[in-house]
Amino acid sequence: MVVPADEVQQRVEKLATACRQVGVKLTHQRLEIFREVAGSVDHPDAETVFRGVRQRLPTVSLDTVYRTLWLLHDLGLVQTLGPRRESVRFDANPRRHHHYLCVRCGLTRDFESAELDALAVPPAACEFGSVLGTQVEVHGLCACCAAAADGPPREVPPPA
Ligand SMILES: [Zn+2]
Ligand SMILES: [Zn+2]
Repeated sequence: MVVPADEVQQRVEKLATACRQVGVKLTHQRLEIFREVAGSVDHPDAETVFRGVRQRLPTVSLDTVYRTLWLLHDLGLVQTLGPRRESVRFDANPRRHHHYLCVRCGLTRDFESAELDALAVPPAACEFGSVLGTQVEVHGLCACCAAAADGPPREVPPPA
């Protein structure tokens, strides 16, 4: 499962615009690291991004990948999921969306829903502070994990 090429291109163009606006240099490294996240539906963590770009950028370090991902986050081009630890995952889908999360393998996929976008924020949440938006996380066992749990053990393909 991959992000369509024209969608990736749109995301890359947004990156170029954002860099120009704030005067950040769009280096080849930054571009390739962003492309790696922008082309994935997997919500990869920094380590996974590092493994992906290392083939194209043999000299890149994990530290550079980390710093670049957080720079992209500060530019508003990627959002993060999960706790702010080393396992934090990055997401370059700029459209309003929600997440399906497999509690066993961690597969995370995007879905869109006008109903969930229109969700009313309860007063109990507003008491903590201002509300910028809502994002719903649906938890479950993905089809692969459910199949593995049900039937006899079998070859489970890695999430595509
Ligand atoms: Zn799963
Ligand atoms: Zn997402």
